[in-house]
Amino acid sequence: MNKDTIEKAYTNTFGLAFSELVFSRVRRPVTVRQRTIRGRKTERTVKYTTLDKLDAVVQQCTGCALSKTRTKVVFGKGAKKPEIVFVGEAPGEQEDLQGFPFVGRAGKLLDKWLAVMGLTLNEVYIMNTLKCRPPDNRDPLPEEKKACRPWFDAQIALLKPKVLCALGRHGFGNLVPFEEGMSFGQFRLKKHAYNGVPVVATYHPSFLLRSPGMMDKVYEDLRFLLEICGRPVPPSLQSPDIKIE
Ligand code: SF4
Repeated sequence: MNKDTIEKAYTNTFGLAFSELVFSRVRRPVTVRQRTIRGRKTERTVKYTTLDKLDAVVQQCTGCALSKTRTKVVFGKGAKKPEIVFVGEAPGEQEDLQGFPFVGRAGKLLDKWLAVMGLTLNEVYIMNTLKCRPPDNRDPLPEEKKACRPWFDAQIALLKPKVLCALGRHGFGNLVPFEEGMSFGQFRLKKHAYNGVPVVATYHPSFLLRSPGMMDKVYEDLRFLLEICGRPVPPSLQSPDIKIE
């Protein structure tokens, strides 16, 4: 059989372009089961082979009421094969306007954390568990979190990171639920897990903007994060002195 015949046979069998099938041999397609809410019971199962294809579909999502109030869907940014994925809870005002996570002052601070770790955005990925901004930055509702979770899970399955770094109490609590009254600090410097992927916790950069005295604790967390990743701690993270602006 020649190459054209093989390509045609694969395409007829799987209903996919041959290039996608070649890709799927390297990285298995990710299945998303998305149930629409508000009384409609339809459920669809879709397979995604690349992050870009998943992104394109999520951009059109109307799976919860936040689709009516958002300006832009905030999917994520960074490397497509990252070792580390930083995870916040939900987009804020600037993220909603620009369509990217962690922009503005908190984003600039996160960039500085990456720099002292010896990393760039080409080596990590940054995202939120929820893809659309809740109005006035209110807490996401349980049904909104539930509706959006399949997108998050599919994204993580495609990214295949070595470790997730959850940012802040809410970002962490969405991955590793903890009971009311428990202190966020007690989860730091420990290895947790979400769907089999190691999770570590640190404070949210927005919190650091209000409480710059906590930076030493963040440095500890970043060193622990590199350790979990199997990376050496660079001299820039031995005794850093990040200025908060
Ligand atoms: S928050 Fe998630 S589920 Fe809701 S509309 Fe946005 S992408 Fe869809």
